[in-house]
Amino acid sequence: MHLVLKTLLHHVERLQGFGYESSRLIEGRVPRIEIQLRARERSRGACSHCHKPAPGYDRLTERQFQFVPLWGIPTYFRYAPRRVRCREHRIVVEHLPWALGKRPLTASFAWFLASSAKMLSWQDVSRTFKTSWESVFRSVEMAVDWGRARMDLTGITAAGVDEIHWRKGRFLTLVYQINEGMKRLLFVAENREETSLRKFFLWLGPKRSAQIRFICSDMWQPYLNVIAERAPQALNILDRYHIAATMNKAIDEVRAKEAREVRARNRLSKSSLVLKHSRWCLLKRVENLTARQTVKLKELLVCNLRTVRAYLL
Ligand SMILES: [Zn+2]
Repeated sequence: MHLVLKTLLHHVERLQGFGYESSRLIEGRVPRIEIQLRARERSRGACSHCHKPAPGYDRLTERQFQFVPLWGIPTYFRYAPRRVRCREHRIVVEHLPWALGKRPLTASFAWFLASSAKMLSWQDVSRTFKTSWESVFRSVEMAVDWGRARMDLTGITAAGVDEIHWRKGRFLTLVYQINEGMKRLLFVAENREETSLRKFFLWLGPKRSAQIRFICSDMWQPYLNVIAERAPQALNILDRYHIAATMNKAIDEVRAKEAREVRARNRLSKSSLVLKHSRWCLLKRVENLTARQTVKLKELLVCNLRTVRAYLL
C-alpha cells in the first residue's frame, strides 16, 4: 500500500482493531480507489449491540463502504465483516467503527456530505461527490438526528414547513425554525402525509408546540390539518405563490362565468364587449400590462362588474 495513502488514512481515520491492508486505483470512465481493510491479528470482533469483544463465529461476504473522495476520486473501503457469538446478543455482526449500520457509506463520508449539503443543493452534492441522492438525504438525516439529540429547543416561536419531491412520487417533509437570528433545520420526515408532520409535533412535545406563534406552509391540506390540530394558537402564514395562484384562478372563474351570463342574457351592452379579450389584463400584474391592455383595464374598472370586484380583491 502506498505510504502516502496509509499515512493519510491513519491521520484522518484511525480504526481500533483494524488496519489498511492494500489499495488500488481502478481506472475507467469513473475511476475509483478501493481500500482493503482487515481485522488486526488476534483482535476479536466486538458485538454490534453492546460493543463487547466476543468469539468469532463466521465471516460474511465482502461489503463496500463509500469513503470521503481522495483527490476527488470516489473511494471505497472493502471489508468482509465477521459474525461473533455474543453472550448476551447471540450471533451478531461485529461492530464496524467506520460504518453506519447497514448503510453503504462510512460515517466520515456521511458527515462530509451533510456539511456539504449546507452549501449546495442535495442534488449538487450527490453529483459532485458521485454518490446517490439517497446517501445525501440519509447523511443529512443522520446529522439532523445527531443535532436534535443535543439541541436546545427553547424559544422556537416561528417555524416553516416545506416539502421536497425527490423521486418519482416520493416526498420529504422538512420543518425549519425560522426565528430571527436562529434559522435551522429541525426535522426531516418521509412523505408529506398528515403523519409526516405529526411526527414533528410529537417529537417537539405539546408544551413547545404551544409556544409556536407563526408557522409558514404552503396550502397542502394535510399540513393545514395537522397545524390546526397540533398548534391551533399559531398563525398559519401561507406561501405567497400559492395564494397568488389560487387568486388568479378565482378571478378567471368569475370572469368566465360573468362573460357567459352576459352572453346568455344576449345583451350586447358595453359590459359584454368589455369582458371579451379581457383575460390577460385581469391576470397580469399592473406594471406588466401593455398600453392597450391598460386602456382595457381602465374600461373594465369603470364597468364595476363582479369581475372587477374580484380583481380588486
Ligand atoms: Zn452483545
